[in-house]
Amino acid sequence: MIRKGMKLYSILFGACPKCHQESMYVNKNPYVLSDIIKMNDTCSHCKTKYQIEPSFFYGSMYVSYAVAVAFAVTAFVISYSIFSTSIITAFIAIIVTLVVLMPIIMRLSRNIWINFFISYDKEKNGV
Ligand SMILES: [Zn+2]
Repeated sequence: MIRKGMKLYSILFGACPKCHQESMYVNKNPYVLSDIIKMNDTCSHCKTKYQIEPSFFYGSMYVSYAVAVAFAVTAFVISYSIFSTSIITAFIAIIVTLVVLMPIIMRLSRNIWINFFISYDKEKNGV
């Protein structure tokens, strides 16, 4: 079970990494493309500043590379091994997966990135 207090909770739901009480994102839906990376400046609950330093989230690009590779490998394995498609189809499956999931990959990598630096603090969770 994924619940508040686990890093995975913040990573999967884009919740504030400190208190897990609210979303870091202005719009919770990543498929509103103009809002993909629009984040609140601070958590209104625990006042954590998300942008720890200027251009903090550039670092999340390294994470997004790893996340994209993970999705690509998964798409390939599912297509090629499970559905026994041709190798060409498997590569098309990779491209489609990456394009369709791009908003999720972008957010996941930001969520993972900020969770490297900020940890859950149950003191902040109370109120
Ligand atoms: Zn917070």
